Amino acid sequence: NMKGRGRNGVCEYDGDLQSEYLQKLRLRDRLKKAIADEALTVYYQPIVDAQTGQISKFEALVRWFDEVEGFVSPAVFIPLAEKYGLIKQLGSFVLHQACRDLKVLHDAGYEAICFSVNRSVKEFINNAEEEQVWEVIQQYELPDNAIIVEITESTASKESSDIQCLLNHFKQRDIKVAMDDFGTGYSSLSAVVDLRPDIIKIDREFIKEIEQSPDSQTLVSLIIDLSEKLGIQVVAEGVETQEQLKLLREMRCQYVQGFYFSQAVPLERCFTLLQQQ
Ligand code: C2E
Ligand code: MG
Ligand code: MG
Ligand code: MG
Repeated sequence: NMKGRGRNGVCEYDGDLQSEYLQKLRLRDRLKKAIADEALTVYYQPIVDAQTGQISKFEALVRWFDEVEGFVSPAVFIPLAEKYGLIKQLGSFVLHQACRDLKVLHDAGYEAICFSVNRSVKEFINNAEEEQVWEVIQQYELPDNAIIVEITESTASKESSDIQCLLNHFKQRDIKVAMDDFGTGYSSLSAVVDLRPDIIKIDREFIKEIEQSPDSQTLVSLIIDLSEKLGIQVVAEGVETQEQLKLLREMRCQYVQGFYFSQAVPLERCFTLLQQQ
């Protein structure tokens, strides 16, 4: 990445790299401000029962529409928030907003609906943050099992003893845990057996290839069968086509989520989606 040596022997960095870095810092400062101003929003994507087509729950996904930067993807700013110490505050904001919104749905009669909330493992380790989840659920007078915590498999495999503690803690509290993006990380099958998450979410990458790639099909089918044997619920992420849905149904996948059904939408639209069914 270095362009070579300058006249006085000092490394000259690639101009692109430098501007990329400056852009990152600018984004970090904008994000800091957005979090402080509570200018982020939370949208919800339905998770559907594959057999009945009924909405079972929604995944809360943070959205950032910045005045200057426009729409910024969480895939871009979540890593920044993690890197620059903003993730706890962000996570707390999303959790509060999700609980507030779920309370509205429950009060309107949709009491069977759950929300699942993404949490970075960085928000938990060496902290009483897991207690916060439970406290916030209480604060909004929701049942403990109304909020599901999603953690990604890749981070989960890193500190598996910490994760074990985390999962045990949530289990005691009757808070469900989903292992997100399953199949992309390095955790072994035995890790799944040991950790025993309540839900496994099969990563979109495998669903994307399910029609063309027999390997992906085998893998997805294996994860579904394993989950069933272990009594773990399974969600296929990123379902975009009727054909994918058909295959997943044949594999007896329980839940599906993806653009085929709906993108993440604001709370008002959740009502519309629920009323339509
Ligand atoms: P994720 O938790 O795996 O969330 C699913 C992502 O896939 C979402 O992207 C969703 O919009 C997208 N998606 C859903 N269905 C489809 C589909 O059919 N096709 C395609 N191409 N994409 C689909 P999004 O909202 O951009 O979020 C990206 C990631 O950012 C999330 O992946 C999650 O890891 C993270 N994230 C989002 N919100 C939060 C949050 O509040 N806290 C934390 N810690 N992370 C979050
Ligand atoms: Mg997720
Ligand atoms: Mg995922
Ligand atoms: Mg993902």
